Parts: sequence; C-alpha cells; structure tokens
Amino acid sequence: MNAEIIAVGSELLLGQIDNSNATFISKELSKIGVNVYYHQVAGDNPERLQEAVKTAQNRADILIFTGGLGPTKDDLTRETLSSMTGIDLIYDDEAMKRLEEFFDKRGKKATSNNLKQALTFDGAEVLQNDEGLACGSIFEHQGTVFMLLPGPPREMKAMFKNYGIPYLSKNISDNQKMQSMILRFYEIGESQLVDKIDDLLEEQTNPTIAPLASDDEVTLRLTVKGPSPETNEEMLNELKEKVFERVGEYCYGESDQELEQTVADMLRDKEISVSAAESLTGGLFANTMTSFAGASMIFPGGVVCYSNDAKQASLNVPSDILENDGAVSEACAKSMAEGARKLFQSDYAISFTGAAGPDPLEGYQPGEMFIGLAGPEGTEAHFVRVGGSRNRIRTYAVKRGLYLLFQ
Ligand code: ATP
Ligand code: MG
Repeated sequence: MNAEIIAVGSELLLGQIDNSNATFISKELSKIGVNVYYHQVAGDNPERLQEAVKTAQNRADILIFTGGLGPTKDDLTRETLSSMTGIDLIYDDEAMKRLEEFFDKRGKKATSNNLKQALTFDGAEVLQNDEGLACGSIFEHQGTVFMLLPGPPREMKAMFKNYGIPYLSKNISDNQKMQSMILRFYEIGESQLVDKIDDLLEEQTNPTIAPLASDDEVTLRLTVKGPSPETNEEMLNELKEKVFERVGEYCYGESDQELEQTVADMLRDKEISVSAAESLTGGLFANTMTSFAGASMIFPGGVVCYSNDAKQASLNVPSDILENDGAVSEACAKSMAEGARKLFQSDYAISFTGAAGPDPLEGYQPGEMFIGLAGPEGTEAHFVRVGGSRNRIRTYAVKRGLYLLFQ
C-alpha cells in the first residue's frame, strides 16, 4: 500500500511556509508501514490541482491532501475533488452544529462561506475538527482512498492521529505491517559506523537498516515487514544483537528521543542533580537543562564565569591555577567543576572551558576545550577537540558534556 501526499496552497509554492505537513504525515505513515513514494505541492488553482490528482491516482493507493478546506474563495480542494470524482458535497450535521455553536458563542452568524467548512463528500467518513472549524473527509473512489485534511498543522495533526492513522491501520493486513526499532549512537561518525556494519547493510532485505546522521549523532532504523508482531519483534531483536556485537558500545538509546532528553530522563530517574560552571558555553548548558519539564529536580543552577576574575570570584578557582596552568586547562576545568558542585550542593557538576574561536586562546586552537566533571567519586577533566564555527563548538561542548554524564 502506498500513499501520496498532496499539499495545497500557493503560499507553499511562494516559499512563505515550509511543507511541514508532508514531513509530519510521511513520518507517521512510515511508522505504520505505508510507503510514500511522492509528495506534491499544488497552488490554489483548480486546473493544476486536477493535474496533480490525476498523476497521483495513477501511482498511489491513498491520496492525502492538506490545505484548501477553509472558508475563502481560494480554498478549493473539496470543490475540485467533487467535480473530478462526481461525488456530491453535502453538509455534515455534526460539523454544522459545531460551526453554529462556534459563531453563536461569539454572538455572530456564520456566513455561507463559513458553512462551506462543514461540507463533506456523500458517503464519506467525516473527520471532526477539535482544533478548528473545517471538517475533513475520507472516501474511496475507483479503488483509491482520498483523505482530506485542513492546512493548519495543529488541526491537521490532531485529525490525522484521531482518524487518519486508525483508518489506515485498519486497512493494512497483518503481513504488510511494518515494525521498526531505532538505535541511537554517539561518539561514532556515520561513515565509521557504516563501515563496521558493512556486511549487515550488504545482506539486508528484511529487516532493513537505514542509517541517518544528524548533529554529532547517528541513528539506525531497523525495519521489518513481517508475518506477525511476534515474529517481527524476534527478527528485529536478532538484527539488533548483530549490530550490537559490532557497535553496541556507542549506543545510548533505543527511542525517538535525542541524547539531551535521554540524559535528563536518566538523571530524573536516578534522582541525580547536576550543576554547571560555564566559561566556553556561556550558559548554553544551563539553557539546555532548564528546557526540560521538571528541570528543578535535576538542575539546581549554574554559573557563567567568562573572565578569570569571575572564575575566581564565583567559584574560588585559585589564582595560582589561572596564572600557571591558565583558564583553558585541565586544572582549571576541575577546579571550576568542584567550585560549582560545592556552591550548589549538587551530586555532580560539569564545567566547560576552552577556545570558542575564531582566535586561539592561551595556545589552544578554536574548538579545543576541557570539560570537567566533579562527583562523589572524584573529579576528572577531558580534553576534547572539535571543528567548526563558534556556535557549533559550543553546542558540541554541551552535547559532549551530557554524554559524559550519561556514562
Ligand atoms: P483555513 O481554514 O485556515 O483556511 P485550510 O484548510 O484552507 O485552512 P490553508 O488555507 O491551505 O488551509 O492553510 C492555512 C494555513 O495552514 C496556512 O496559512 C499555513 O500557515 C498552514 N499550512 C497550510 N498548508 C501547510 C503545509 N503543507 N505545511 C505546513 N503548514 C501549512
Ligand atoms: Mg484557507
């Protein structure tokens, strides 16, 4: 079974907004084993939309539309599909009731344009909109499924999850069902990882392995299309074992979740608190830690100490270290971490000091840094080197620091 997504809206073609609806739907479809071979974008123009539909009908089983269900003249997805399929548009009672209530509450009367949003196709399943006014529809015509969703992402997502996914899942037979597993890796580059699992990639048919690299992380998605959920699970685990034999030491997680969230969850589960002493990262670590819900349980606070005076005043870094070893040094990183741990009475404290660039600092090249970690077992400092812009160096530092905590 394969689907094609047709996003309708001239604003997409003008580059005013990204087609994030298609990205979202594709991702959701891949989870339930529906293949997507094409995305199309059509402007608010009936002829060109018709062209897009004709093309899609010839190659896809399911056409998913987003956009063009609103009240204005340029919203013409329904009308265009109705004239193409010959299926009449009718008002849906429930959608109508919702619309009228909406306008009643505001002391207004719905115009005929507004009422248009309660139109669906004769015989279609109606998708009620809990987040807005336009209802969606699903119907089958000449062996093709048509699914119409509104453009605003909040409305579209809710409807697709509440109606779209259940509809499609119901219609996929068990032996077509796809199941996947995500393995996340850190501290190993994509090419290095691919190299180590070369033979597995070579022989893959079912399950398949898809590597994906993003900022400093590599993800492997193992996907199986199999006879039953139990067998699928077994096949995935078997492949996972093989992958782990080669690169298991770099794997930090098995979910959609990024390293940051994984570390935050781990700290919360183990009730571990971490404070920070930030020179190089200037508060970026604190910013990351406080972005998680329930941050106060794991992050009591941090100090931004950019100058040597600030390192001394806020964290008691001895002047001896600053003068002899320098601010970018193992000794300074350790002392900063210890200072923060004491100040905030936290289980652990992490520190960042280094050269963010563009110029070298104390003989260190941009991207060279020390990350200190003080904890109940003692204090350590790691020398780390990374290339790139100031921004990249600082983001990398934070991620690397989080990874140290993870270990
Ligand atoms: P409305 O009732 O709001 O008019 P609609 O179904 O007619 O909804 P559009 O008019 O096509 O949808 O789009 C409404 C808004 O939704 C757009 O201005 C845009 O912000 C957002 N939107 C539309 N299509 C997409 C898309 N493919 N990806 C992301 N956002 C989109
Ligand atoms: Mg609109």
